[in-house]
Amino acid sequence: MNSVAVGVFSLTLLTGAVMAGAAAIGLADPLYALAYLAVAALLVGTVIAAFCTKCPLKGKGCLHILPGRLAALLPARQGKYTAVEIAAVLVALLLIAAVPQYWLLSQVPLLALFWLLAGTGVFLINRRVCPVCGNRCCPLRPKE
Ligand code: SF4
Repeated sequence: MNSVAVGVFSLTLLTGAVMAGAAAIGLADPLYALAYLAVAALLVGTVIAAFCTKCPLKGKGCLHILPGRLAALLPARQGKYTAVEIAAVLVALLLIAAVPQYWLLSQVPLLALFWLLAGTGVFLINRRVCPVCGNRCCPLRPKE
């Protein structure tokens, strides 16, 4: 699988994890599940606005395709990431993962599915996408 295919596949796995979380919430209250999906979409938008808009791969070079295309629709920015931008990205990603855990704990098969999908997605990004990504300002970039 080439890097773009891995990038798209890993993002699909992470999306699947969010859907598993939404399914667990939805079993308790479908409206809560919709609220979670809406908040998760806003938080993903925050990541794209804070992080991807500074990435030199935004547009057609993004190894995950979709975030780069969306970032290209926003005003372009340049320079190193600030501590506030990195903190915003970390908080957004942690919130997306943390919010459904309360409901997942009472739905063990969905809990296992969530972490299988999320863990595999993060693993693939870390092992197959980050080492060949051209975003030299990314704090996750392996040291050269
Ligand atoms: S490669 Fe760049 S545009 Fe694509 S997801 Fe990563 S930071 Fe965003």
